[in-house]
Amino acid sequence: MGDLLEKIKQEFQEIYPDSSTPRVFFAPGRVNLIGEHTDYTGGFVMPMALDLGITMLATPRDDGVYHLKSTNFENSVEFSNSYLLGNEVSLDKKDPWGNYPKGIVLELSKLGLELKGADILYSSNLPTGAGLSSSAAIGMVTAYGLSKLGDLQITNEELAFLCQRMENDFIGVKSGIMDQFAVGLSKKDHAIFLDCNSMEWEYVPLNLEGHKVVITNTGKKRGLNESRYNERRHESEEALQKLSELKPQIKSYRDLTLADLSLINTLMYPYKERARHIVTENHRVLEAKKALESGSLTQFGQLMLASHRSLSVDYEVTGRELDSLFQSQLEAGCFKTRMTGAGFGGCTVSLVIENKVEYFIETVRANYKARTGLDSEFYLAKSSGGVREIREGL
Ligand code: ADP
Ligand code: MG
Repeated sequence: MGDLLEKIKQEFQEIYPDSSTPRVFFAPGRVNLIGEHTDYTGGFVMPMALDLGITMLATPRDDGVYHLKSTNFENSVEFSNSYLLGNEVSLDKKDPWGNYPKGIVLELSKLGLELKGADILYSSNLPTGAGLSSSAAIGMVTAYGLSKLGDLQITNEELAFLCQRMENDFIGVKSGIMDQFAVGLSKKDHAIFLDCNSMEWEYVPLNLEGHKVVITNTGKKRGLNESRYNERRHESEEALQKLSELKPQIKSYRDLTLADLSLINTLMYPYKERARHIVTENHRVLEAKKALESGSLTQFGQLMLASHRSLSVDYEVTGRELDSLFQSQLEAGCFKTRMTGAGFGGCTVSLVIENKVEYFIETVRANYKARTGLDSEFYLAKSSGGVREIREGL
């Protein structure tokens, strides 16, 4: 981190020569170990934060103007407080990234943030649009950093909800709360088990017994079009509606257990399949938590495989790339693997025995390329803590 940070600081000085020394903030990306497409139906999830993420350098200004730049994008972004507090706040569809921080400043202003602008530089080593939640990372790093600069008293939990509102209302992606929570509250060497209904959560120690967490990128981006994500959300709501017509006691997915699968199986496509995934996936997360707590990684792996198959067959969010990658990983002898994130491209997460990592990467790379013609990318992920300030000497 040291050298890289020095480089970013230098870049900050070059972009903003009149600015004073910036404060430095970091928000991790996250990988969801299990519990996919369950957060927006009030289910269970179990992500962990990564040591990859987005760093933000920021210095306050006193003229009410925000200057933003990212080392990962060409364009710079500028807007003023008065613009935000007027009625003209709108999404700039042509801007590939500025809307996220703009939406955050807007939400923070509503809570009374009295910051008179800032000079900001972002730098990320997290792939974007790959399902590792760069959107929650940029949202949380901005919200956390600016609330510190502006002395706004707010908890990380509240910031997570604020970021979700920003993505839902301003960006228009109906994302659940998992990403922002994982990015805001994670702890090193732990996964975070979150009940998205009660919002209760607990840390689960990650005893990986000689395994590495390997994230493999299919090389297929989800793209900016989130329509299929929103479509699944809609279908899952419709399925619940149909189930509650059949059995009025059913008010949420949490009223359903495996015992209700026979009722679910009376629905038609795609409602049967969508509901079946959600109910079985919630069960798998509870089982996976127990497996981690009792150190049963083999059992954990079996649940990962079942999760992938359910996301492929019932929820239909994998597609050719993720399924080819999954198959290549099984053929490389890894039986603790699944797609992660929203799907439709993006990444898989695998637990790979340490001395097999090199073999895994080489075999999967070649096999996947032969199947799809695409180049995969691999990240050896370490778990990390949530959003934080990085102070010199720490
Ligand atoms: P994911 O969250 O899976 O990475 P999303 O499509 O939800 O994918 O979010 C990606 C978006 O987040 C990018 O298109 C960009 O707008 C924003 N973003 C991600 N990383 C950065 C960065 N380093 N600097 C500025 N904006 C970023
Ligand atoms: Mg996202």
